[in-house]
Amino acid sequence: MQTYQASCIFDGKATLAEGPGWDEERQAIVWVDIEKGKISRFYPSTHRNETWAISQKVGCVVRTSGGDLLAGGQEGLLKLNPESGEVTSLQNPEPDLPVNRFNDGKCDPQGRLWAGTMSCEEEEGAGSLYRITNEGSIKRMVESVTISNGLAWSQDGRTMYYIDTPTRHVDAFDFDPVEGEISNRRHVIEIPKDMGYPDGMTIDAEGKLWVALWAGWGVGRWDPSTGELLAKVQLPVECVTACCFGGKDYHTLYITTASRDLDEEGHKEQPQAGGLFTADVGVAGLPTPVFKEA
Ligand code: CA
Repeated sequence: MQTYQASCIFDGKATLAEGPGWDEERQAIVWVDIEKGKISRFYPSTHRNETWAISQKVGCVVRTSGGDLLAGGQEGLLKLNPESGEVTSLQNPEPDLPVNRFNDGKCDPQGRLWAGTMSCEEEEGAGSLYRITNEGSIKRMVESVTISNGLAWSQDGRTMYYIDTPTRHVDAFDFDPVEGEISNRRHVIEIPKDMGYPDGMTIDAEGKLWVALWAGWGVGRWDPSTGELLAKVQLPVECVTACCFGGKDYHTLYITTASRDLDEEGHKEQPQAGGLFTADVGVAGLPTPVFKEA
């Protein structure tokens, strides 16, 4: 098995950094700090990090075709105009569940947003996975989710991969790209107990999945057709949350981490927890799809 070492590119001391996506136009990483309610855009070439404070927990963010940022928060969906800083509240699919918040979310290759929810108290089965289309409609696609997390689509657009963290599995669905419907859910990868819990994930140009490992000190590369572990990126941080490919030719893996659950001793042992890391993993990834506005 191949191993890679990640290095810290931005020691941002986030509480719970998450949801990285590559902004090709700006050559920047868009990401969130869920607990601090912040959306950020980090420019690797200059190390500048722009930040917008949202007055609620924010679980995911994607770019839109119109140049805005669409995010999922504790009070539902919201849109941020990064030029003016103006925040507009959009639909909330769970007004009856105030303890729930949006967690991981990502656009499919057709530009629909898929975003899941979870209870802030991690109540079993309290979350759902939603599909948000450019017509502005929200539809519940998966029920009884505990911690809705990583999403990825195969390059042929026919398979959607999905993680509900406590299951310790990566599941696959048959994906209908035209209708955006999913079916035939099955397990394709089981995360070994000593590797922690699967969190966010991304897919590379060879169809292999890179899964961030909460309490697992890294990112694993798995083959979803065999379930085999192929490689691991090692980090000096225990809780690794999500990853995406970016940079020139999409050869760089960008990785977010968390510091939320560390005590004083833990902060001393993992001073870069909450930082943004990179690793050159010798394989190209795919662009991050944007949300297609009507
Ligand atoms: Ca996550």
